[in-house]
Amino acid sequence: TPLFDTPLAEAWVRAIAAAVEKEEGRLTELDSAIGDGDHGSNLRRGFAAALTALDGLRPAGPGAVLSKAGTTLISKVGGASGPLYGKAFRAIGAALPGPAGPADLADALAAGLDAVRTLGRAEPGDKTIVDAYTPAVAAFRACAAAGAALPEAAGAAADAAEQGARDTIPLRARKGRASYLGERSIGHQDPGATSTALLFRTLAEVAAG
Ligand code: ADP
Ligand code: MG
Ligand code: MG
Repeated sequence: TPLFDTPLAEAWVRAIAAAVEKEEGRLTELDSAIGDGDHGSNLRRGFAAALTALDGLRPAGPGAVLSKAGTTLISKVGGASGPLYGKAFRAIGAALPGPAGPADLADALAAGLDAVRTLGRAEPGDKTIVDAYTPAVAAFRACAAAGAALPEAAGAAADAAEQGARDTIPLRARKGRASYLGERSIGHQDPGATSTALLFRTLAEVAAG
């Protein structure tokens, strides 16, 4: 059964860069409705810079790849999502010194969620990244505990994240720019929860090969 190793970590970052480029318009549209319309361009710029940073890097393990991506996001993305995803990737990276099976990757992804929550102080239901990331980690963990292989665990996490993102539509935002809209944030899908679902779907795709 495949491990989350250095080539897979690099493939994930490359696939994220391609996915956020492809989905930039949709993410921007969502952020235009309840934010300032830059979520797509923030992520496109950040992950393009992460790819550049990986060029010529000789990573010691999968974690070094993700830590580098995280550091790049923090330095290149001005919006809320840069530091939040940046800290998440750094925490995931720090938890992956070597190739990881599903249970270890579940723990690493959970460390990423902890980092988001420590920095952003958002609770589930606040209409943020946390609303997609929390069910994704739970699904990943449950699959790993049941003995599932990486592609299956990542696929379940992606399904849960997509559901979590859709479930933000009726929520009122309590964190970030969308919270300034109060009740007017209701009825729109959160951009950050949507991009989190994209990250997990991308992981599932690269894990499936
Ligand atoms: P900005 O809001 O600074 O323009 P982005 O548009 O890139 O940054 O990202 C907006 C997304 O960031 C939101 O849709 C939300 O999901 C997420 N977000 C904002 N604040 C928080 C927070 N405190 N915790 C978790 N996620 C947050
Ligand atoms: Mg924005
Ligand atoms: Mg902004």
